[in-house]
Amino acid sequence: MLPNLMEVEMAGDDAKKPVSEIRRRDRAQDEGWIRAFLQAGAWGTLATVSEGQPFINTNLYVYDEAAHAIYLHGARIGRTRSNIEAGGPACFNVSEMGRILPDDVALEFSVEYAGVTVFGLCTVVDDDDEAYRGLQMLMEKYAPQLQPDRDYRPASREDLDRTSVYRIDIEAWSGKMNEKDAGFPGAYWYEHHRTPSPFSSGGKE
Ligand SMILES: Cc1cc2nc3c(=O)[nH]c(=O)nc-3n(C[C@H](O)[C@H](O)[C@H](O)COP(=O)(O)OP(=O)(O)OC[C@H]3O[C@@H](n4cnc5c(N)ncnc54)[C@H](O)[C@@H]3O)c2cc1C
Repeated sequence: MLPNLMEVEMAGDDAKKPVSEIRRRDRAQDEGWIRAFLQAGAWGTLATVSEGQPFINTNLYVYDEAAHAIYLHGARIGRTRSNIEAGGPACFNVSEMGRILPDDVALEFSVEYAGVTVFGLCTVVDDDDEAYRGLQMLMEKYAPQLQPDRDYRPASREDLDRTSVYRIDIEAWSGKMNEKDAGFPGAYWYEHHRTPSPFSSGGKE
């Protein structure tokens, strides 16, 4: 059973704050921004816990604004599914990195970023109609240029036996962003300096 998130106490100096309270309030974003960010985000990281051991799983996702929920899908078996089946709270984050913000002093270097963290209960979607709808929402998000039945065969009832569909019921969330003016002195994209991509295509195609 998910504890009342507003009553969860955080360890350390921030004890007794709500889980989604942002320390740097100047960077906190409102609900409209959070919704738009979740609609557009490319992928997220789901945190689950099993017997005190945290796990993370990176996934594509879709935000269903009407249901105030996030849908994900994954393998029929595996650590993620077994953790979710065992119940317990989950946490999901979507983030993006902007430019590196240099300074004369190493400690003052910074980075532009934007992110949303969601707290809620994550469950396996057992209802076939809902699972099918979640999968189709994922297709519409990630392949908007392709049409079901014309460009691909949509998921069938039988396909549902080969995948797990998960739903996170959003109980609390936070949005945070650090962005500087376009003319911030010396700001640059790490992408232009990083070591080669692990993908042979270089991730550019
Ligand atoms: C951007 C991105 C999007 C993805 N989207 C999806 C998606 O939509 N659906 C989907 O099923 N999978 C997706 N994946 C793969 C996903 O991260 C997992 O590998 C997969 O879901 C299997 O998880 P599991 O818990 O069942 O694996 P298990 O093999 O049961 O996990 C056991 C252990 O394997 C290791 N492990 C598992 N996955 C990873 C990983 N990605 N990287 C490093 N170690 C790992 C961890 O140590 C984990 O505790 C995505 C990965 C990335 C990077």
